[in-house]
Amino acid sequence: MNLSKLSEILKTEPKYRFVQVNQAVFQDYISSWDEVSSLPKSLREQLAAVCPLEIKAEVYKNKNRHQSEKALITLADGEVIETVLIRQKEQRNTVCVSSQVGCALACQFCATGSFGFRRNLSAEEIIEQVVFWQRYLKTAGPEEKVANIVFMGMGEPFLNYPEFIKAVKFINNPETMNIGSRRLSVSTAGITEGIKRLAGEKLQINLAISLHAANDSLRATLMPIAKKYPLRDILAAVDSYINKTGRRVMFEYLMIKEVNDNEKDALELIRLMKKPLYLVNLIPYNPTGRFTPSTKERIEKFKKILEDNGVAVTVRLSFGADITAACGQLRGKR
Ligand code: SAH
Repeated sequence: MNLSKLSEILKTEPKYRFVQVNQAVFQDYISSWDEVSSLPKSLREQLAAVCPLEIKAEVYKNKNRHQSEKALITLADGEVIETVLIRQKEQRNTVCVSSQVGCALACQFCATGSFGFRRNLSAEEIIEQVVFWQRYLKTAGPEEKVANIVFMGMGEPFLNYPEFIKAVKFINNPETMNIGSRRLSVSTAGITEGIKRLAGEKLQINLAISLHAANDSLRATLMPIAKKYPLRDILAAVDSYINKTGRRVMFEYLMIKEVNDNEKDALELIRLMKKPLYLVNLIPYNPTGRFTPSTKERIEKFKKILEDNGVAVTVRLSFGADITAACGQLRGKR
């Protein structure tokens, strides 16, 4: 898909053409300009030549389980990104989108990190991932559509802030995709500049922080970026975000056996997390070759210690490990 020349082509057309085109592409989710019978044939031909709508993608799913499906999308320059559709209940489809090709952060537990950084995605390439799943769901039934979007795929959204926020506003815009900002969530490894910028937007998007350790030295062994952004700075940025927006913030905490899942880790975490509007989300670690996941019992025990000490905590249900589509497993490979 490439709509960069759209305004140029529609420049000489009456204004309402824009409305028709936006509606066709971002509300009716057409796959071919021929489907827009309200446009004159000559214009449709011109659009087909200059603004291709085709999205080059391969879908992977497990034959026996339909909870999640992943798509590898090949971009115009040949780079490949992953996006995941998570089907929870009827009409509760969540899409996980990538914000960069690869990632520069090299978190030790994440497959995308080992792949290295290639480039930022444009807003259109971020939006395209949602458009892809909307078209895909359209074939599944008239009521099926994308309900929630999480910016938790490949990359660090706050290191691509301008394109990330452009995509968010476009997705949110009632004249285009019209998905409410409360249905959008962004996760960051703790880029404080991004947290501050997001606090200044008038948007009700959900913010999540990848914490994964309760002290800087352990955190730095898991996430090299922790050396640049110590916990103290991240939590200060979060507190001012909460002050400004009144919104709750989720802290993601991977459960990695004997690395960060001991009782002493839980006690250390309590000291940081016992605050109003803080919510801890424990995430079972999906194997990426390096570490061992915590057992279910250990996760429950860890959760109970937090709960008993007044910390709001949930455990994330994880889908997609069977097709390497789960959190941390995205690397743009078949
Ligand atoms: N760079 C951003 C966005 C990526 S989000 C960030 O770090 O938040 C990806 C989410 O999946 C993050 O919470 C990340 O910590 C988590 N994750 C990474 N590797 C994982 C793994 N192996 N198992 C489970 N979750 C993982």
